Parts: sequence; C-alpha cells; structure tokens
Amino acid sequence: MECNDVNCPEHGTLATRGMVLEGTVVSAKMQKTLIVQRDYYIKVKKYQRYRRSRSRIPAHNPPCINAKEGDKVRIMECRKLGRTVNFVVVEKLASEETKSKDKKEAKHDENRLEEEPKQEKKVKPTKKKSKVNNG
Ligand SMILES: [Zn+2]
Repeated sequence: MECNDVNCPEHGTLATRGMVLEGTVVSAKMQKTLIVQRDYYIKVKKYQRYRRSRSRIPAHNPPCINAKEGDKVRIMECRKLGRTVNFVVVEKLASEETKSKDKKEAKHDENRLEEEPKQEKKVKPTKKKSKVNNG
C-alpha cells in the first residue's frame, strides 16, 4: 500500500522521540487518528499492593499501518499533530482476532454431592396440652 502521509514515521518526515508505549486500540473512528488504551498497575507503597490504572492516548494512525479497533499497537512520542495528538503508531503488534480466546471457565462446585449429615429425626408427637375449659 502506498503511503503518502507526511506524518508517517517511515514514509513521511515525522520524527519520533521520547516515550515508547504499548496499548490496545479502543477507538479508530477518527480520520488517521485512534485512541490507544493502556492498562497498567501502580504500586501503592503504603499498602504494599497494586492498584489498576488506565490511560487513553490519542495517536496518529498512518495509512500504511492502518490499525483497527482491538489491535495491539506500539506508539511513539512525536511532535504535536493536533490539539491532543502527540503520539504516532509505529507498529502493529497483534490483533485480538488472532489471539485464541481462552475463557477460563471457573467451575463452580455446583454438582458436588452435598453431604448432609443425616440426622435421624425422631419425630416425637408432641401433644400440646390444651386446656379445654368445659364450662
Ligand atoms: Zn507510511
């Protein structure tokens, strides 16, 4: 595919420098621009645990790469290409379709035999002493 994009890191004149990030394309509805979402963990020092965090980065999508929704891409920092865009897609890593979806089916122990301790219920006929007032 011919690439006439000036803002293509390979075929154009766009220089990339700075950060290199990887993420998943969650929206490719704009023209030559997409949204890359990154899920990552941040350590919370106080509790010695991790909290999940997420960021969305608008990135330029050159026509020679043409990443679509669900694709995993590598983006690199570049000069500002728009009000919010200062990243460009440099590589398509893998798409969600190629990945084999391994659904971890958590098997609940619903079918296990419920072993109830058999309590021999001795039904004692309790005679309620009802006072009959004859009178
Ligand atoms: Zn290109």
